[in-house]
Amino acid sequence: MRNSISGAEQNSLENKGNFVEEVARRIPVKGEYDVIVSGSGPSGVSAALRAAGLGMKTLLIEQNGCLGGMWTSGLLGWMIDHHKPESRLMNRYKRELQLRGSAGSPPCSGSFAFEPECMKLLLEDLCRETGVNVRLYTQVSGAIRNADGTMDCVLTESKSGREAWRGTIFIDATGDGDLGSAAGCSFETGDPENGHFQPMSMLAILTGIRLQDVIQYVNGYTPRAQAVNNLHDLLTANGAEPTYHDATLFFLSDELFLLMANHECQMSGCDADDLTRATMLARREIHQQIAALRRSGPEWKNLSIAATSERIGVREGRRLRGLYQVTLQDLLEGRTQPDSICRVAAGIDIHALTHSYANGFFEHQHKSLPYDIPLRALISSEIPNLLLTGRCISGDFFAHASYRVTGNIVPLGEAAGILAALTVREKKAAADVPWQLLKENL
Ligand SMILES: Cc1cc2nc3c(=O)[nH]c(=O)nc-3n(C[C@H](O)[C@H](O)[C@H](O)COP(=O)(O)OP(=O)(O)OC[C@H]3O[C@@H](n4cnc5c(N)ncnc54)[C@H](O)[C@@H]3O)c2cc1C
Repeated sequence: MRNSISGAEQNSLENKGNFVEEVARRIPVKGEYDVIVSGSGPSGVSAALRAAGLGMKTLLIEQNGCLGGMWTSGLLGWMIDHHKPESRLMNRYKRELQLRGSAGSPPCSGSFAFEPECMKLLLEDLCRETGVNVRLYTQVSGAIRNADGTMDCVLTESKSGREAWRGTIFIDATGDGDLGSAAGCSFETGDPENGHFQPMSMLAILTGIRLQDVIQYVNGYTPRAQAVNNLHDLLTANGAEPTYHDATLFFLSDELFLLMANHECQMSGCDADDLTRATMLARREIHQQIAALRRSGPEWKNLSIAATSERIGVREGRRLRGLYQVTLQDLLEGRTQPDSICRVAAGIDIHALTHSYANGFFEHQHKSLPYDIPLRALISSEIPNLLLTGRCISGDFFAHASYRVTGNIVPLGEAAGILAALTVREKKAAADVPWQLLKENL
């Protein structure tokens, strides 16, 4: 058996050139499950719901105090590329949010807005109803592998100490590939040209303004290019030029707005020091921006911050290696796949990699066509009982910049959950489950 520490942990130790030896410890096995999902973002929670829905004893482990990842702890009440008639859960989430009175489609193509607070409760309700076992406040920090290379347990750290959770099949839905990395899998990060990650951004929910008074600044209610220019100019004129040139104000509902107006460049979402620095810079910038807007005119004078996100938004982390890697070429050709689990319409969206860019985005000449994500991109090529979903599936830098939006991430999670369930039920390796069987369950 092999017990690994994460790459980030290893790097930070090596950088310090200083080690301590940890004495081997006996770790309690807290439970045994058919399916263990690490990370409860849009992808992980969808995977857990579909696995439990197929009768699997399923555990969902989340480091935050709520389910939903970027949708909730990131405050991102905005789905892109969400028209997915084939996705049972995407349609369920949208229907339930509408029934609970906190969602709707704004007048811009392909988007769906909702209140993150409502999403928190919805996901908890769905997990309770479906029988998903949820463990919050628990960080996946390691993995134990068997002699044949399969994964035996995930290791976690929490207020309860270090614990082990044994499973038949595991799903890495941490966005950053934390589980795969901890288990020793190989991965890629950032732009292959220079190693830069897409910038991180902290989001904020704002209130105290009315749509009709600020409509010229609101994405979709005024054409996007015009709205972001107006907001950029207003902030700059009041002494708060945004680090995200295309600072964007989204309308969520009633008097709730979402602000995305900062870029934390050349920092890694897999490094706790970078995360700390980015979080503190971003939160300070948001407060400065709100003070500037309040000064800018009577329509803004009651503006206030309802919340800044508890965690900064990380656009990209590790991309783990799967049986198939989705590449830029697939996007340029609009490639179809025999084992397609999601058809992606979103274009290639690469935010400025450094602050030296004159606008908010990295300029490139690539024009993608709608393309398929194959199931094989979700099956680890290194650990037979490890599946990947969400941001950390197997893809290159450009492909990731397209499929990462939540309208695609949900169907990927569903496919991972179903495949995990079939693997257990059929007693087969993930790669050997017949495609037809998976398709019937999608
Ligand atoms: C600033 C920003 C703006 C965006 N804008 C949009 C947009 O407008 N519309 C859109 O559709 N998409 C947008 N995206 C993209 C989208 O939000 C993400 O790509 C998507 O949420 C990825 O889903 P996921 O489930 O893979 O990961 P995440 O949403 O990142 O969720 C990962 C979950 O795993 C948990 N986790 C991580 N590591 C561990 C660990 N070691 N142990 C336990 N739990 C762990 C995290 O706490 C989190 O809950 C944006 C992303 C960012 C960062």
